[in-house]
Amino acid sequence: MKERLLFLGPPGAGKGTQAQRLAQSQDLLHLSTGDLLRAEVQSGTPLGQEAEAVMARGELVSDGLVIAIVRSRLEHHQGGWLLDGFPRNLAQAETLDTLLTELNQAIERVVLMELDDGILIQRLLARGRADDNEGVIRHRLEVYRTQTAPLIEHYKDRGLLIAVDAAGSVEQIGANILDCLAK
Ligand code: ADP
Repeated sequence: MKERLLFLGPPGAGKGTQAQRLAQSQDLLHLSTGDLLRAEVQSGTPLGQEAEAVMARGELVSDGLVIAIVRSRLEHHQGGWLLDGFPRNLAQAETLDTLLTELNQAIERVVLMELDDGILIQRLLARGRADDNEGVIRHRLEVYRTQTAPLIEHYKDRGLLIAVDAAGSVEQIGANILDCLAK
């Protein structure tokens, strides 16, 4: 099994759920920038205060802020990891490449979870998180399309990308991911 993984896909594709399962079964560090940011908001740290309004609008938090979070978690970590929700634009991807070169750890696979917009919106509305109302959801999908989707080519060009159908049960999708990673 590859040990340094990145999960990519639109909001609602189930990245968080699958990333958590896989990280647990393969003993990898699960780094979700969304979860880490929500924890900062919850604790009311200066960083959280800065991020809260931006997240509620469905915009991206500043690159500097999320990069600092990721760097602090990866810098002293020994062993495999799984990045979920980061990078989210080309600038973040380039900074990540530089950081990983510095740490002498390369990404081994990028898992792209693909799903139709209709299903994505239904899933997010059912989840009902603070930033899961219809207007904000549509905006997050737009931000994904314009800022995050270009990363698909970025990683395809490097021969790292595998695409997984994100429709079906949690178990089915989990099995698809394991299959793809075993190849
Ligand atoms: P989803 O997968 O549903 O978009 P996340 O938990 O990954 O949910 O992210 C929720 C919000 O947190 C995003 O809309 C954004 O405001 C912020 N966020 C998470 N990761 C990043 C990142 N790498 N860069 C900038 N903002 C981020």
